Amino acid sequence: MRIELTTEPGDPARPNEDYASVGLPASGQGGSLVVLDGVTPPATDDGCLHSVPWFTARLGGALAELSASRRDMTLRDALAAAIVRTADAHRSTCDLSHPRTPQATVVLARWDAARVEYLVLSDSVLLTEAPDGTVRALLDDRLDRLPRAGLVSAEVADATVRNKEGGFFTAAADPTVVDRAVTGTLARTEVRALAAMTDGVTRWVEKFREGDWADLFTLVRKEGAEATVARVRALEDADAQDRTYLRRSKTHDDASLVYVEL
Ligand SMILES: [Zn+2]
Repeated sequence: MRIELTTEPGDPARPNEDYASVGLPASGQGGSLVVLDGVTPPATDDGCLHSVPWFTARLGGALAELSASRRDMTLRDALAAAIVRTADAHRSTCDLSHPRTPQATVVLARWDAARVEYLVLSDSVLLTEAPDGTVRALLDDRLDRLPRAGLVSAEVADATVRNKEGGFFTAAADPTVVDRAVTGTLARTEVRALAAMTDGVTRWVEKFREGDWADLFTLVRKEGAEATVARVRALEDADAQDRTYLRRSKTHDDASLVYVEL
């Protein structure tokens, strides 16, 4: 088994708002991974006394625990329980009904000898590779279907389309959002390797158009997680002036990547 995990802040002067983990329960029967991308509020008013890293650390920690220890729960159930647990931690001090209450995109995957389960909410992505090399992209394309497609990410999209019908959905304080997640189960025999990543990495495909998902998967497998993020950073630096590809996006975004060969 090969596992690589990397996470890098977009700006070294600001805290990284992503969360990434891999859990391998002692039973040896499988494991799980969690990748979150905390949504940066544009203004300081989000009704919360805490920070986005505070939120992603709690939500991610709860997901890591529940996805590995509670195999009786579906990934949807685990996400709902983690959202409630995190909300309970600041319900008494913060306004959790604020549209910009701390929130995050989510990728979860869990595997055992028989199957691979997945859950994707908002614009982080899970790629799986079959034994024959076929790469499958498991994604929630709700954000791409909004007006101004291609120009926005979960981070900069307007509050008017955030966690509202016809808009896009992130994990915030409302556990019913789990019904909006893209979920499924693959036979373990269909999956040789997995790669989960935040949009700080997927911009290699989605903004810079260096290749398709299969090309990105090959890059990760051959060069590794850290080198893949370095490639993205080089593309960002080259485009920082002209902004041909980046347009209104941040030059550098927090970038996290978990790669698992089963
Ligand atoms: Zn708070």
